Amino acid sequence: MNVREHLRALNEELRRLKSEGARTVSVDEKSLAQLRAAVTKARAQLAPATAVAAKEPVAIPAALAAAMNAPARPASRPVAPSTSSDIPVTAPVVKLPEGEKRVRWEALRELVLNDPVCRAHVFPGKQVVFGVGHLDAAIMFVGEAPGGDEEEQGEPFVGRAGQLLNKMIGAMGLSRDQVYIGNILNWRPEMPRNADGSQTGNRPPTPEEMAYCLPFIRAQIAVVQPKVLVALGKTAVDGLLGAERFKSMGAARGAWHSYADTPLRATYHPSYLLRQEGLTSPTAKKIKRDAWEDLLAVMERADVPISEKQRGYFR
Ligand code: URA
Repeated sequence: MNVREHLRALNEELRRLKSEGARTVSVDEKSLAQLRAAVTKARAQLAPATAVAAKEPVAIPAALAAAMNAPARPASRPVAPSTSSDIPVTAPVVKLPEGEKRVRWEALRELVLNDPVCRAHVFPGKQVVFGVGHLDAAIMFVGEAPGGDEEEQGEPFVGRAGQLLNKMIGAMGLSRDQVYIGNILNWRPEMPRNADGSQTGNRPPTPEEMAYCLPFIRAQIAVVQPKVLVALGKTAVDGLLGAERFKSMGAARGAWHSYADTPLRATYHPSYLLRQEGLTSPTAKKIKRDAWEDLLAVMERADVPISEKQRGYFR
């Protein structure tokens, strides 16, 4: 990756943290100095004739935004999939056959896996990712978008975040095949590729990408008809409840909402929780406790028995 691609990845990560409720990040002096140098270099690359060395310390988000302003020019891409600017304005209309859940679900799966727009967004050898799980699940988890492991295996939440999600489901006394797991987006949001075609880093889907895929997750919800929906992270909240509804995850979680008459609980995305692992600050502890309380509320609403031990995990 070149400097600008690193900055782009960093910017996306900062945006993701912000969308998940983070208000501050700690950066040590050395990294800050490296960042300033990188931003200055990126600016020079973008506009060699006008670039000047920053005299004042540069505020990171502003500097990153400046570095981000130019359109992406990946150095080398073996085969380029479509980008978010290629997304059709009209979202797909999902028509499913009458009949049993499985018949409807399989038709939907075929539709999504063969959808030309979804297919155009995956690199050769990678896969469009559709939901998995029990079609009579009481609980349906909705995440953001596939990452590298997911596009490789064609299944949601199979990477590190997925392993944590499995543990969370296990702590609820359930197994992965007793719940349903889907994503707002069916392909891995594209970032500039390395020369060998691999992708480093992830980014949240754009509003256009989300709008295109929303009919697919909505249709999965309509087929499965779970008792309770769990929105994992802000992208899922925005997708299911509307982007204007909540400013942050902090505002969305801790209360019941409704999606098409199905109770919905918002909780932190497993990737965000992974970043709290090993942290012992009061904030990190509260985030983990809050996430568990969200899951207890979900269990109660979905009539999943709760033991005293489960209630006491964080007491
Ligand atoms: N994160 C998500 O939101 N979904 C996945 O499938 C994997 C990671």
